[in-house]
Amino acid sequence: VREVLLERGWKEYDKRKREDSDWNLYWRGSEFHSSEYHSLLPWQRLNHHPKTAGITRKDSLVRNLRRMKATFGSALYNFSPTTFILPNEYTSFLAEYNKLLPNREQSVCWICKPVDLSRGRGIFLFRNMRDLVYNGSVVVQRYISSPLLISGYKFDLRIYVCVKSFHPLTVYIHQEALVRFATEKYNLSSLSNVFAHLTNTSINKCGPFYKTQKGQVGSGCKWTMSKFRYFLQNQNINELFLWQRINNIVTLTLLSITASVPDCPNCVELFGFDILIDSKFKPWLLEVNHSPSLALDCQTDLSVKKGLVSDLVDLMNYTDIDGLRGKTYQTQRNVQTCFNANISTPVPSLPKLKDHNFQQKNKKSSKMHQEKSKRHLPPIETLHWILGSYSKMNVVKTGLSSRQMKYNPQVTGVTNRDVAETQDEMENEVSSSVLGTQGRRSTFRPSTDSWRLPDIYRKRRRFHVQEAKPPIGQHVPPIRAGGFIRTFPFNPATLKASLVKLDVPVVIQELQKLTARVASGRRKETTGEEEEEDEDCFDSLLWGPEDPPLLSQWFNTKIKNT
Ligand code: ADP
Repeated sequence: VREVLLERGWKEYDKRKREDSDWNLYWRGSEFHSSEYHSLLPWQRLNHHPKTAGITRKDSLVRNLRRMKATFGSALYNFSPTTFILPNEYTSFLAEYNKLLPNREQSVCWICKPVDLSRGRGIFLFRNMRDLVYNGSVVVQRYISSPLLISGYKFDLRIYVCVKSFHPLTVYIHQEALVRFATEKYNLSSLSNVFAHLTNTSINKCGPFYKTQKGQVGSGCKWTMSKFRYFLQNQNINELFLWQRINNIVTLTLLSITASVPDCPNCVELFGFDILIDSKFKPWLLEVNHSPSLALDCQTDLSVKKGLVSDLVDLMNYTDIDGLRGKTYQTQRNVQTCFNANISTPVPSLPKLKDHNFQQKNKKSSKMHQEKSKRHLPPIETLHWILGSYSKMNVVKTGLSSRQMKYNPQVTGVTNRDVAETQDEMENEVSSSVLGTQGRRSTFRPSTDSWRLPDIYRKRRRFHVQEAKPPIGQHVPPIRAGGFIRTFPFNPATLKASLVKLDVPVVIQELQKLTARVASGRRKETTGEEEEEDEDCFDSLLWGPEDPPLLSQWFNTKIKNT
């Protein structure tokens, strides 16, 4: 993250030189304390939403998915292996274990995982109850014993999901991801061999066969998703259906906590969903990681993760309001040079804001304002035209003050930064927040220089936007940002269902309709002229394929009548 941000022109926060609020982005692996959400200023972002442990802790995930299963049916929520939380559910587990015992095949296995550990630590497999020895809180899960194998090696997918907002729910999945291989051949007769059964990189990179050529897998233990897509093309499956099912797992899992996550428009979160595909091409959810590793262990990591982080920064959509930080504190530094920053927490990153060229920048500001609309765009030239469905108009005018913009469970409808504020609005927001939060700044008024954007935009103008009017009064999140494809909301009905209070039954109904259509590969069977596309129509891309088509386009593609 640091590397990407520095390359993009950001500067790292230095507590000796800056005030304790003089930053834009605070990125850290661990959770934030609730007080840190309450004290956010309008230009400050955190890389975690509050209260997402409901899906990122193994035991909480089990509870939440169970609850959803009970409400919406086990046919829908059938993507998570049967799991028990021990010691509390020991009796239920024993009953299930015994139920499977009489007609037990070789393949009935269980996997035991500590609830709060990661990277494969403390995990073991067992068939016999007497081998279940645990200390502390664990989950015992039915082991998916017939995984899809490549050259005899097990693998799982690490899918990167960005929840830009929980209220309204706005989800993006990155097109690129990691395929993580075990480094020894899959073999059910040696359950204790972690190099054959666990796909964690932290384990397999220490394995004896890590560097060995392993059939189609090659050396190392990772593929990019692109390579996996290529592999899938040679399989006789409905590939789009597989992607849609993975997409559904992500949406249905997030739905389980959406109502309990407080609104925090200044937060964004990158989750790592671990998906195992079995030999029948059914995807299973293994777990959700709250800080997926962004470490660069190999070339594959480099090609996936650097683009991912860069796209994530694009997705955060830094707008004029974020640039106000620079002006606020530049003025502060001029007036009050001996400020004592009292910080005890790890240091965040912040955009680079040069101290010179104020006048010039002011002159350039209107040009920059136009340029600003060139964010969030796909790296693929040919997809420029699909970007018409969002623009700086994508805003619900709420008239909220900066105080309201801060973490506040009661406030809904604040767009998550897809906002082009007017200069007046921004100045009001900054002055009220500064005045409201820190009395000693009572004479401060931001000057017109506060329009300056962080330099990051100048380095990243790769793309072009075609502006289009969003549906009136609706918040329309960008269709994509680089490799991030918006997967929720995905059609006008889900957009509407998520605007005020998330209407889960409607969302589920729409998800089922979409899945059924993708499963059947149903296209329009017309022979006449193509229908005119409605420019303002809300649409999504089909997540998964390398060059994703618009959903509407995909469904409207004529089947050739022979
Ligand atoms: P951790 O947080 O420690 O990585 P995971 O739940 O992701 O824990 O499990 C680690 C690895 O164990 C997974 O990447 C996968 O290879 C394997 N695994 C976990 N659960 C199952 C399961 N139910 N069936 C098959 N393999 C599993």
